[in-house]
Amino acid sequence: MCLIQARWHVPYAVVYLTGACNLGCSYCFANRLPPRHMSRRTGERVVEWLFENSRDGKEDPLILSFFGGEPLLRFSILRCMVEFSDRLSDRYGKRIVFSVTTNGTLITGEILDFLEARQIAVLFSVDGDRRTNDMHRNFKNGSSAAETIYAGARSVLERFPKVAARMTVTRDNLHRLADNIRFLHRLGFRFISPCPALETITGHKAWEEFDRQCRRAAEYVIRNALDGDYLHLHFLDNGIDQLVHKRAVDVACGAGKTIVGIDTNGDIYPCHRFVSYAPNDGKRFRLGNIHDGIDPVRALPFRRYDRSNVLGCYTRCRECPANDFCAGGCIALYHETTGNFLAPLVQQQKLMSVWQEICAETVDCFKQRGKFAFLLEQIKLKPKSFLPLRIYLKTGLSDFPAPGYSPPGFVSKEDQGWLIEAGSDGESRKNWESFGRFQTRCGNESDPSWRNTGRRRPRGASTPSGGSASTA
Ligand code: SF4
Ligand code: SF4
Repeated sequence: MCLIQARWHVPYAVVYLTGACNLGCSYCFANRLPPRHMSRRTGERVVEWLFENSRDGKEDPLILSFFGGEPLLRFSILRCMVEFSDRLSDRYGKRIVFSVTTNGTLITGEILDFLEARQIAVLFSVDGDRRTNDMHRNFKNGSSAAETIYAGARSVLERFPKVAARMTVTRDNLHRLADNIRFLHRLGFRFISPCPALETITGHKAWEEFDRQCRRAAEYVIRNALDGDYLHLHFLDNGIDQLVHKRAVDVACGAGKTIVGIDTNGDIYPCHRFVSYAPNDGKRFRLGNIHDGIDPVRALPFRRYDRSNVLGCYTRCRECPANDFCAGGCIALYHETTGNFLAPLVQQQKLMSVWQEICAETVDCFKQRGKFAFLLEQIKLKPKSFLPLRIYLKTGLSDFPAPGYSPPGFVSKEDQGWLIEAGSDGESRKNWESFGRFQTRCGNESDPSWRNTGRRRPRGASTPSGGSASTA
């Protein structure tokens, strides 16, 4: 296999320190992973690979997020990797900033000291009050983890007042969304990111309730803001920012473009969620490994992905009322539920319509009360973890020559270079060419069957996977 290193700059790696977790959250996609750990040697090689891979790129700092399973189960490796990055930082003339996604149950003073000293950002997974939390987020033996989580949250918030809470919203708990946001705000969180597990939210009633809950949450934000206490809700901050500044949205994330997920054994995938497909669908989405680098042909469909080749939900994207607001959604989820990462779940359109309307109404409300300038000031304060990764969406791809080879029509000259370099690998080539055929078929709007291409019915509420306890 012909692999190329240090050409396609990937500035952001989400790294599984372990597939194991001390909780057994029912919706977590990491449940599918074997409970194996990353070794110290692999961890250090991951750090080295990230530096090497972006050696010629402009991106600085690079980002490495510790993920799992519960990454704090491997705190010693985490520490080694951070310290190892110091040693390489001078050699490569850039640095890595770190973050960790945690369930908060293993926090100790020693861990907090280290996170604080090294300014490691924390994303805290918590669903809400005890009743909600106990629905899905319990210890492996089934006992409630809620009080341990809240104790962890209090100690983290003492040191990191800006830490963000990540809530997984499912069909089971969405009717408590507004109450849970209030609960977490009272617990001390000022940055909250409700993440709907879209595949579980089906049916008109569920969406009516979701709409009602999001409106209540927005009203809560407005009420508090009028008293000078602005609560940052991810969907409001990002949505308002987008509406007010009319920011173009090309992709929801940089999966396979500017982000990669790295498994405990050093295998590289388009993002952390694709890693969780490794046991069953691993061959298809494995882009390479930290020793040999990334196979550009395997990566090509992800590099080529943007809104122009998304199939759309009920309608094509350009006819969709949410077109200016939607970034296309999570391609890993689409792969899992529709069988095709270019085919969004229909729920994406529901979600975007609800959020777009609420964001627009919230802006009007602030304007009417003469608080629009205050709103804009607050939105600027949203933490980096709230920002779309668009800052890193421009890859530092080097120029490739494109001698004679003539791949299918939609391939740019730049991509032809990749193909030539990787052309000797029959399997990768086949993979890429099937993407080409798929594109051609989907591009034919006169073909009414386009919407069914590769689609399976979305799975219902009983689907055990979803927005994980720790999705980025
Ligand atoms: S939005 Fe989905 S595809 Fe993108 S990085 Fe997150 S999990 Fe991966
Ligand atoms: S909601 Fe669906 S159809 Fe609309 S822009 Fe997003 S992905 Fe496209």
